[in-house]
Amino acid sequence: MSSKIDLTILYIGNNELFVPKIKSLVSQSRFSIKIESANSNDDAIDHLNEIHSEYKSKALCLFNLNSPENEGIILQYVNSQYPSCKNMVVYEHKPWVNSIELLTNRSIFGMIDSQNNSQFELVLLNYLAEIDSSNELYLQNSNLKQKLKSLQQQLSQRTTELLKKNIALESLSITDKLTQINNRLKLDEHFSFNFEYCKRYNADFSIILLDIDFFKQVNDSFGHQIGDEILIKIASILTSNLRQTDMAGRWGGEEFFILCPSSNLNQASQLAEKLRNLVTNSNFDKVGQITISFGVTSFKKGDSEKSMLQRADKALYSAKEKGRNRVEELA
Ligand code: GH3
Ligand code: MG
Ligand code: MG
Repeated sequence: MSSKIDLTILYIGNNELFVPKIKSLVSQSRFSIKIESANSNDDAIDHLNEIHSEYKSKALCLFNLNSPENEGIILQYVNSQYPSCKNMVVYEHKPWVNSIELLTNRSIFGMIDSQNNSQFELVLLNYLAEIDSSNELYLQNSNLKQKLKSLQQQLSQRTTELLKKNIALESLSITDKLTQINNRLKLDEHFSFNFEYCKRYNADFSIILLDIDFFKQVNDSFGHQIGDEILIKIASILTSNLRQTDMAGRWGGEEFFILCPSSNLNQASQLAEKLRNLVTNSNFDKVGQITISFGVTSFKKGDSEKSMLQRADKALYSAKEKGRNRVEELA
């Protein structure tokens, strides 16, 4: 009985509506397809073991856990343990920010939108043709061959289009419109990532929060347009004077934020001091001199993301209180 199964589709995810959708899509197929689902990594591994040992059928894994980290782990596992398995990523609303990375991962066969039935059908047909190319069942008819070729072309075209759209979308979603540097969303994401990393590996990690001094006065005296130009110039000074591994972005209004992985408090304060000097010594069109206040802090044991940010904010507040145009650190 088990030998009759041509393909097992294992859906790893938590969208209950997706399994019936797969069922209805494959119901017309001439292949004998078994559909299973798993809603966690462990569950998925159990299923895979079973598929592998019992059915000896090919498996197509559809990953839909809505978390790139999670899927990264299970994907790697599947890839190393079950190299004959094809993997596909399903996304719900928008492809994740790092979907591009995932797509360039060789173990991924394709990426599909869970809402797009025809896209899924295409990918599935393509795969069914691929698994059957050995016994020529699917390729006997030359019309079918033609159709398949065109489907494959369509698929590859759609994948390219999707990739391009994703790149454009991703870039838009993480870029501050005015200054064209990273926005709060990107900073938040990168901050969380670095925070978790340094917590786990006990690595150095510092952050710098900075706020332009008396910016309201600048706007009031010279106009909002000039204010905007200052924000753009400061963003450029910040981003062009950092290490490749550091990241700066606009935190909001006239505040910026810098993440310094692998930097201790002293090193981050030195960086802040360097940036403060660069800004103070720059000439801003029509306005002349602009100054900035900096608050610096580093990760310490027991910190949460919130406590670390609060400390940076406190340090910045203290820089303002002590007269502005200065760097204050808080250990
Ligand atoms: P402090 O030294 O205490 O930071 O004083 P401040 O005047 O900089 O601080 P305050 O918070 O009173 O004012 C911030 C100003 O930043 C007010 C707001 O109009 C201006 N601002 C925020 N976002 C933008 C922007 O996108 N463009 C311009 N031109 N101004 C902005
Ligand atoms: Mg402010
Ligand atoms: Mg300010």
